[in-house]
Amino acid sequence: MSERELLKRIASDKNLLKCYQCGTCVGGCPVSRTLPQYNPRKILESLITGEYSDLLSDKLVWLCAYCHSCLERCPQRIGLSHVFVELKNASFKTGNVPQGILEEVMQLVKSGRTAPLTPAVERRRSELNLPPLNISIDVGEIQRIVEGTHLDSLLKAARRKRGGKDT
Ligand code: SF4
Ligand code: SF4
Repeated sequence: MSERELLKRIASDKNLLKCYQCGTCVGGCPVSRTLPQYNPRKILESLITGEYSDLLSDKLVWLCAYCHSCLERCPQRIGLSHVFVELKNASFKTGNVPQGILEEVMQLVKSGRTAPLTPAVERRRSELNLPPLNISIDVGEIQRIVEGTHLDSLLKAARRKRGGKDT
């Protein structure tokens, strides 16, 4: 499916048309507060008006912290945070994935963890009186999920797009 088709499908949600552009979502968004160019109202506007040609390529959609503040505050009860999940999924499908996210997903596939469990992490946990992270993870099961959901081919495509090697 092309980028435009993916976006068209997200934008076809009639619920989005209830937005009257009041901007309450922006006022409560922690990302907008620190990075004014990130504006959930404007992103929704671009979906409603169909002017979303560069929405997935500019990586802004990846900044959403999925805190649900916009969902809680929206007078029209538009599930804006869920729209951002759909936008991230669509972005992943087109290979527009920030390097950091890509590395986290690859680490998850490889080890079942989003960050490596290094001696430094173990030491820090011990200093904070936290128990050791010695839970064993069934990596085989994770890899079956990856194959079943075709995440492996999406990862390869995203890596190629970023100029990385296939795994
Ligand atoms: S708070 Fe709701 S109605 Fe207001 S701009 Fe945001 S999404 Fe639209
Ligand atoms: S869910 Fe995303 S868009 Fe909504 S307030 Fe939180 S960071 Fe902002």
